[in-house]
Amino acid sequence: MDHEITLTAKERLTPDTWHYVFTRPEKVEFTPGQATALTLEREGWTDEDRPFTFTSQPEDPVLEFVIKSYPDHDGVTARLRDLDPGDKVQMEDPFGAIHDRGGPATFLAAGAGITPFIPILRRRVRDGKLADTTLVFSNKTRADIILREEWEAMAGLETIFVVSDEQGMIDKAFLKRRLADFDRTFYLCGPGEFVDAMRDALKALDVPGDRIVTEEGW
Ligand SMILES: Cc1cc2nc3c(=O)[nH]c(=O)nc-3n(C[C@H](O)[C@H](O)[C@H](O)COP(=O)(O)OP(=O)(O)OC[C@H]3O[C@@H](n4cnc5c(N)ncnc54)[C@H](O)[C@@H]3O)c2cc1C
Repeated sequence: MDHEITLTAKERLTPDTWHYVFTRPEKVEFTPGQATALTLEREGWTDEDRPFTFTSQPEDPVLEFVIKSYPDHDGVTARLRDLDPGDKVQMEDPFGAIHDRGGPATFLAAGAGITPFIPILRRRVRDGKLADTTLVFSNKTRADIILREEWEAMAGLETIFVVSDEQGMIDKAFLKRRLADFDRTFYLCGPGEFVDAMRDALKALDVPGDRIVTEEGW
């Protein structure tokens, strides 16, 4: 492990998702969209590291994460939810393939797969580069939509929310019907089955593989 960080604040965003703020060690460099691995300093858990994405900006004085817990399953995310300010976790050096290439883009996210796009979309807003940007965000229920109000308030961002319990899963026909432009970069993040299905659908819609950006291993 590379760094020890301390929780300073925690806030609930959806029924099973929390926003965490941690202290920032001096020597941590990352780009928006990158991730790290966190390990609990609890007996029996110190060999269990799990990947999570920074949602803060590289220049921020703190580190932030948005993490979905799986409370029915005694894993790391269920225990993260029980942390209190002052508790410490171990953090590895940053890694990750998702970064903003700039220009027209469609971000396709499912559930906690929104996390790399949180700092990327905020940065596009800050830099005045949100033109030609679309967010397609799929969740099981309406209550699960992370930061919906923030996405809807981003002037210039086209938002398409999909509630899979009501509308079913996103497929090729949905993308063809709802997206006007396929000549752009597509960023995919979410559970492996979602990413695989979106990649296949985009390829069938003639999007070349080098314009599909994703992170393996979710
Ligand atoms: C690069 C990267 C970045 C990521 N960034 C984020 C992020 O910023 N925020 C975020 O929320 N997630 C993120 N993830 C996903 C996150 O890493 C996983 O949700 C986390 O590792 C799950 O850890 P766990 O110990 O709770 O579950 P694990 O024990 O690792 O289980 C993994 C999955 O299996 C399922 N599962 C396994 N056993 C059971 C069981 N008995 N009952 C029910 N379900 C079960 C759970 O649904 C869980 O999703 C990221 C993943 C990657 C690869």
